[in-house]
Amino acid sequence: MKHLKFDHHFIDNLPADPVTHTVRRQVVEACYSFVSPKSTATPKLLIHSPEVAEMLDLSETDCSSDVFTQVFSGNALLDGMKPYAMCYGGHQFGNWAGQLGDGRAMTIADVINKKGERWSLQLKGAGETPYSRTADGLAVLRSSIREFLCSEAMFHLDVPTTRALSLCATGDEVWRDMFYDGNAEYEQGAVVCRVAPSFLRFGNFEIFNSRGDSKTLQTLLDFTIRTYFSHLIENDTIHTDTYTRWFAEVCDTTKTMIIHWQRVGFVHGVMNTDNMSILGLTIDYGPYGWLEDYNPDWTPNTTDAANHRYAFGKQAHIAHWNLMKLAQAIAPLFEDTTPLQDTLNNYAPAYKKSWQAMMQQKLGLNTFDKALVEQLMNNLEQMEADMTIFFRKLADIEIEDDAEQCLSKVHDAFYPTDKLEDKAASVWTSWFENYVQHIKKDGVDARKTSMNQVNPKYVLRNYLAQLVIDKANEGDLSMLHELFEVLKKPYDEQPEHETKYAQKRPDWAKEKAGCSMLSCSS
Ligand code: AMP
Ligand code: MG
Repeated sequence: MKHLKFDHHFIDNLPADPVTHTVRRQVVEACYSFVSPKSTATPKLLIHSPEVAEMLDLSETDCSSDVFTQVFSGNALLDGMKPYAMCYGGHQFGNWAGQLGDGRAMTIADVINKKGERWSLQLKGAGETPYSRTADGLAVLRSSIREFLCSEAMFHLDVPTTRALSLCATGDEVWRDMFYDGNAEYEQGAVVCRVAPSFLRFGNFEIFNSRGDSKTLQTLLDFTIRTYFSHLIENDTIHTDTYTRWFAEVCDTTKTMIIHWQRVGFVHGVMNTDNMSILGLTIDYGPYGWLEDYNPDWTPNTTDAANHRYAFGKQAHIAHWNLMKLAQAIAPLFEDTTPLQDTLNNYAPAYKKSWQAMMQQKLGLNTFDKALVEQLMNNLEQMEADMTIFFRKLADIEIEDDAEQCLSKVHDAFYPTDKLEDKAASVWTSWFENYVQHIKKDGVDARKTSMNQVNPKYVLRNYLAQLVIDKANEGDLSMLHELFEVLKKPYDEQPEHETKYAQKRPDWAKEKAGCSMLSCSS
């Protein structure tokens, strides 16, 4: 792996924490601290993503080498790697939480690949940093599997996301209380290497504003724009207008990310401002989940059980709230904040427009019909329909089908089939009649093909992730590898995998820990 070309633009251009030993502390007027990964007992590569490796110019021979396992488990560094942890703050569950930072993540290098692209490599779970607060800087196998599988699945679903290069078991044990209920136990430790152009978050900017440190705030923002948003710079100068255009772009990419989440039924679970990427990438896979029966109020995160702040149906609104916090964070760089306010005001109408376009695509229509969509959302919710299966099967409906034929085509999507028999006629008949009229009138060309490109057949169902974890905990990685492959082609039929991977949640999984209930403990 000696051919990898590293770049130190982040540490060369931004102020460093002068303290270089790892002791937990408040770090001021600095964007990062130098750190070292923790050595591990018996590191073992469990899985890697050949697609991400290729992006980094790593061959399969590189990936199967011992040095790969050593480096990506945190046991060794390649010449030229200079690991650092970023300083950031954040609003957690609506409240300012002060300094957070990379408490168990560290960037080990930025790679410039042969195409000239910049990729940051970050180890998650490689030990303590000054930002670890009261925790250990480690990650357990279950949550590392969830991050590895889901971030790659999201990429293949066309959802903007950080990627994952590798998942290594460390051979060390990690003490965890999975539900914060006094039942702690040892779990297997693991390290994921995740990859993105940048891991900067809203919280990286908020921390400086919270401390009244406009100087470092401006240094970071100018650096961010020059490095990742250079298309916004005119005549090589950055001024307030550039900041406004930058904020508008963050609003836009964030909006697009949320639209994709709504399209595929993804619930992030912890949309704190420290978990919001300035590149509009899905980041920090924790207690996320996938909608099974369509329920906008659903969140998998037990830490959010009281308020459902981060439920599926609230994600667009929360993203807007988070963007408001980002606007407030950079406001000291403006004499007049009207342009920031105007940009923020534009988010809701822009979101609505994109959401309508997305729903139109999911339905295979050339126009958006409010009544049709609202009635559908109501029906799905009332009848507990599996979102993924319903939309996938909807593409099978043809213009000559009557309501009864339509219903039988989507029948597999419903959880309580008895409820369906009673209510089906009244709830669905008029909707399907209406829908068939619409597709006759303004259905898109090649409707089934088009719908199947936006309505996936395979998503990382909550219970499937848990089955993979249960097996991996016993040393059986076959399902991890198999599901990883299936999720690379989520829009393909893959009939050979249907019975195992494209089914409704089984009854046993409804209330099982890890399947429908997760906490931030990871
Ligand atoms: P999260 O809820 O995962 O976004 O984490 C919130 C904050 O807690 C971030 O600053 C994390 O780096 C930190 N954190 C989470 N888990 C750990 C851990 N096991 N050790 C140290 N810091 C952690
Ligand atoms: Mg986080």
